[in-house]
Amino acid sequence: MISVEEALEKVLNYVEVLEPERKPILDCLGQVLAEDVYSTIDIPPLDNSAMDGYALRARDTLGASESSPRYLVVVGEVAAGSMPAQEVRPGTAIRIMTGAPLPGGADAVVRFEDTDEVNRKLSGGDLSHIGILCQVEKGADVRGRGEDIARGDLILKKSKVLRPQEIGVLASLGLSTALVIRRPIVAILATGDELIGVDQPLAPGKIHDSNNYTIAAEVSRYGGIPKILGIGRDSVQSLTKKIYEGLDADMLTTSGGVSKGDYDIVKNVLAEHGEVGFWTVCMKPGKPLAFGVIRKTRGGKVKKVPHLGLPGNPVSSMVTFEQFARPAILKMMGKKILAKPVIRAIIDDGIVDTDERRLFARVSVTRRGGQYYASVTGPQGSGILTSMAKANGLAIIPEGGKGVKAGDMVEVQMLDWGEEQGDVEKLPVVSIVGKSQSGKTVLMEQLIAEFKRRGYKVAAIKHGRGGMKIDHPGKDSWRFAQAGSDAVLISSPDKLAFIKSVDHDLGIEEILPTVGPEFDLVLVEGFKKSKIPKIEVHRKGLGHDLLCSPEELSAIVTDESFDTDIPQLPWGDTVTVADFIEKNFVLKSQGSVSLAPMKEKG
Ligand code: AMP
Ligand code: MG
Repeated sequence: MISVEEALEKVLNYVEVLEPERKPILDCLGQVLAEDVYSTIDIPPLDNSAMDGYALRARDTLGASESSPRYLVVVGEVAAGSMPAQEVRPGTAIRIMTGAPLPGGADAVVRFEDTDEVNRKLSGGDLSHIGILCQVEKGADVRGRGEDIARGDLILKKSKVLRPQEIGVLASLGLSTALVIRRPIVAILATGDELIGVDQPLAPGKIHDSNNYTIAAEVSRYGGIPKILGIGRDSVQSLTKKIYEGLDADMLTTSGGVSKGDYDIVKNVLAEHGEVGFWTVCMKPGKPLAFGVIRKTRGGKVKKVPHLGLPGNPVSSMVTFEQFARPAILKMMGKKILAKPVIRAIIDDGIVDTDERRLFARVSVTRRGGQYYASVTGPQGSGILTSMAKANGLAIIPEGGKGVKAGDMVEVQMLDWGEEQGDVEKLPVVSIVGKSQSGKTVLMEQLIAEFKRRGYKVAAIKHGRGGMKIDHPGKDSWRFAQAGSDAVLISSPDKLAFIKSVDHDLGIEEILPTVGPEFDLVLVEGFKKSKIPKIEVHRKGLGHDLLCSPEELSAIVTDESFDTDIPQLPWGDTVTVADFIEKNFVLKSQGSVSLAPMKEKG
């Protein structure tokens, strides 16, 4: 039996990123850009007005106020889409609409509300003159040429997944087509003598085929093009014929015919016409899974079509599709993030599981009070497709047959979340590890101060092996805990402490969810065995070996050099270490952003 990870690695090794195609931008949604896109134009192409108002020279508004307006001669008007016919000279203004090019000579716009235009109209006056009621700075309400995009800039990078906003950006660049990795065609075949089509009446011993529909919808959801081959019968002949109809596709999935008691048909067909990888995967549902390639000769050339033989049970086929076919499709499409987002949730129900395999339990996840909860969606038989219909996640109950108790923390794969969302949920976290006397606490202190200086909200975690001092015997909080409270919170006007009893020394992965989502960066001291990114602090004189092996480390902060490829940062130079962390682990914020455009209309 192989692990889920091993099986996935094998599947991914079989599939390749497909070739690019050029097509209309509106057909590219969700596809991966296969070229760098540069701009050949400035956007906006000219300085233009951000408001409806008057274009003028800022200098002419000096000292203007409601009680002391500055009066200017209106020499013309310009609407969006046309060019100004006049220039603005000292003492004059041009009436201007949002998006209209700024006339020569003008360097600012005053919006209608800050002029006496309305009152002038109400009192029957003409607009040959205008009273300006406030003083404005140069550039006020002017959108500068190239402010959004400058000619020659790299606007969209190769590998970018195109969303509606990128499609809009392509349109604004004047591009009607884009080069994207093409979508894979996935041929889909259900097998079984018991299966009939959805439009046929049920007969004794028969059931409607649902897998073809579930799988085709899954293929579409992840960006592939489904090609349903229909229903194959439980004979080598029928299956072979159907499978050959699907060999123009980029991948073939079958469902059914892979379990032991069956005729092992899929296996036989694979063995005869391709290379067979037939495994039992350490997962439930979905133990039997066939994978291989089917050879096809065309024009003297041999083409190998990857084939994924999913189990027949509707839940099993969907769960195995999610684990193996979905990432394969995403890889073929050129996507980089293949994993479904995983969150940590408290499970509402205990799950008795004596099976050694990893269990994917169908759960419904809700968020209450900042914490995710998962409840099992009823009976979990692998034929009960409604357990999947009620679920929005798959709780991963680890191998080993221990099951979980109600209230335990579990990892849940969020079925309806996009793969990219996993990156958003991740709290940037870096651990500083090192031998004692290496200077890791000092570096922690300096990094915290440095990141605060850079405007980040920082959380720091310390592994207090020898217990903690805040919970002194005799204090009220201590007495509450003694009385049996599982958690005690102490709140004061400027601090909150949360003390929770735990039954084992928690791993950093278990601690992180309690940190809260409002932090930009979590700096951790210690936890050298964890899988989070680690930076080791090393000092000459502590022996020329490291605490962690280099492949586990993101960088070494050291005062002597090591013969390794991983980045080495100078010991004692906090700014360089902070730069490294910022560049590699934190999404750099823009610092302060001018809010001027907030005034803009819609
Ligand atoms: P198999 O893997 O072929 O032994 O099938 C296992 C179970 O899944 C059997 O109860 C089948 O009837 C059921 N099954 C197989 N294929 C489908 C399908 N396309 N739609 C619904 N149920 C199926
Ligand atoms: Mg069958």
